[in-house]
Amino acid sequence: MMKDLFFDLDHTLWDFEKNSREALAEGYNHLKLNSRGVGSIQAYIKEYERANAWCWGEYREGRMEKEELRGRRFSLALKKWGLEKDSALGESLGSHYVETSPYKTHLVKDALVVVKELFERGHQLVMLTNGFEEVQHIKVQRCGMSPFFKSVLTSDALGVKKPNAGIFQLALDLSNSSAENAVMLGDSLESDIIGAREAGWGQVYYNPLKIEHNEEVLHEVSDLISILELPLRK
Ligand SMILES: [Mg+2]
Repeated sequence: MMKDLFFDLDHTLWDFEKNSREALAEGYNHLKLNSRGVGSIQAYIKEYERANAWCWGEYREGRMEKEELRGRRFSLALKKWGLEKDSALGESLGSHYVETSPYKTHLVKDALVVVKELFERGHQLVMLTNGFEEVQHIKVQRCGMSPFFKSVLTSDALGVKKPNAGIFQLALDLSNSSAENAVMLGDSLESDIIGAREAGWGQVYYNPLKIEHNEEVLHEVSDLISILELPLRK
């Protein structure tokens, strides 16, 4: 019997940085930020990523709503150039971004090869992602992953985020799986790996930068292709 494999999406299969930066550069041009005095594309991206990380922290802690996060991270990014009060601009950039980035299709190296091979070996594959319902489904479909995944489960739709135990239980229930048959594969030590471990699941920590840690992890890989060598049968 093959284990049920629950994959994280962003930074694990979908090349978030590359896709996001491409969308941000297009937004910069589309809304003519250069003529509004916003430094360079690179400087804009840097400010955005800083602001976005802060807003996501607030969102994770329940201090910011999803609707606010979308525009706010852009307004904050423009602070350096004195445009943070232009909330219409922040909203326009936010809309452009959510309408653009999910359609980007850059994947992490070997992502599709690995997913296809695991599917063909007979694993049940489920996407389990902390993200927005409407966005994550587009990504999975656009990047050619849909045929291999039985379902795409988002924290947005389930109402609870990784690493909360509740989302792992819901994922099992919705997939007719059980903790001893489930393996979580993801790049976040905290959200994916520790969350899964605490829920009694197996874990594959995708750690491309080989970041050092002291956590007990079942399997760890620095590239996706190595997943194919792991013992994922029960
Ligand atoms: Mg991730």
